[in-house]
Amino acid sequence: MDGACGSKRKRGGRPKSKYWNEAGKIGKDMWKCNHCKEKFSGGATRIEEHITGKGNSIRKCSKYPGHEGGHNIIASGSTSPREALHTLNQLRGQ
Ligand SMILES: [Zn+2]
Repeated sequence: MDGACGSKRKRGGRPKSKYWNEAGKIGKDMWKCNHCKEKFSGGATRIEEHITGKGNSIRKCSKYPGHEGGHNIIASGSTSPREALHTLNQLRGQ
């Protein structure tokens, strides 16, 4: 019986939030968004709220390209989805 193997401690401290990829720390409790270059205070939770737009206390990022999956890729093209659908319907109707 080995009773000394009960300690499973993860090394490396706290896991770093993936949202630190979207912002850079510029001071104590301050960070700057990599996308809109605006400065905010708070931690990774605040970055998440800024990036995802889920928070009520922080403005949603206006430049973050990852909103709503691939939606923006279509919307940023020269042809809007609505226009494309309209064209498609016209083609079908002929
Ligand atoms: Zn931003």
